[in-house]
Amino acid sequence: HDTTRRPALTVLLAAPRGFCAGVDRAIQIVELALARFGAPVYVRHEIVHNRYVVESLKAKGAVFVEELDEIPDTDQPVIFSAHGVPKSVPNAAKMRNLFAIDATCPLVFKVHMEAGRHYTEGREIVLIGHAGHPEVEGTTGQLPEGTVKLVENTADAEAFTPGDPARLAYVTQTTLSVDDTASIVAILKRRFPEIVGPTKEDICYATTNRQAAVKAIAGKVGLTLVVGAPNSSNSLRLVEVAERAGCPKGVLIERAEDIPWPLFEGISAVGVTAGASAPEKLVEEVIEAIRERFMLTIEQVTTAQESIAFNVPRALREPANA
Ligand code: SF4
Repeated sequence: HDTTRRPALTVLLAAPRGFCAGVDRAIQIVELALARFGAPVYVRHEIVHNRYVVESLKAKGAVFVEELDEIPDTDQPVIFSAHGVPKSVPNAAKMRNLFAIDATCPLVFKVHMEAGRHYTEGREIVLIGHAGHPEVEGTTGQLPEGTVKLVENTADAEAFTPGDPARLAYVTQTTLSVDDTASIVAILKRRFPEIVGPTKEDICYATTNRQAAVKAIAGKVGLTLVVGAPNSSNSLRLVEVAERAGCPKGVLIERAEDIPWPLFEGISAVGVTAGASAPEKLVEEVIEAIRERFMLTIEQVTTAQESIAFNVPRALREPANA
């Protein structure tokens, strides 16, 4: 390349972006289990929704399955993903004497606890979330079938008919759009003033911070690239948030090879962020690919500092021979 002929481009890098404390912990759990117990280590569902992470762990000896019945009888650990699991999963593991290690994010676990408390107190429970997402299946599966009612959008919230409006509670998925969820909750509160909700919202700090950061750059760029996986809820929400906050186009990309170069035409600034399950290495790869074609100016726009970290389960913390 003749470097003098590359067009100028500014990249606004949103911060915070990428790995959250729950994802970091879940990956650590698999790595520590592999180091301590050797391969194979079984993992139910993608430990976090990122193909690159899953492939790297596979190369180290992790075996990914969707359900426990795909795992042979074994003394090797079986790890549950960060998204959480229905109660039937640890129960089935116990029945089979499997050595289960739970990598459910503590912030998802907190929602499970809330749902359990509402149930014990005799309330009907509304879960605001997306059908089919493993976190929704996990939260729903904490309680007997049919107990938790899913509300996906404002139309569902308008149509929902409770058994007893005076005994109603809601919980939410952790990775939703902050703004959409506020509209849904507003409808539920208008229709059912006695509905009980979380004292501190269920949408986690990482989701909230990543959405705020992308909003801060959205109005200043002609295109936003979100590094993340198509099955990653929080990454999909970042694309929506960018567009709603004024960016003409948001695109989800898994790797540098997915960068939509034709969309760079006529644009002087591009925003870059990453979902909570996307490693920073993939963001660096994207920046390097852009640098090959443009004279880059990179500005990081930081809207929050994060210092949260979660401990790994005790089984992986204690000395091996204790
Ligand atoms: Fe936990 Fe939030 Fe990360 Fe999900 S996105 S793993 S809830 S910190």
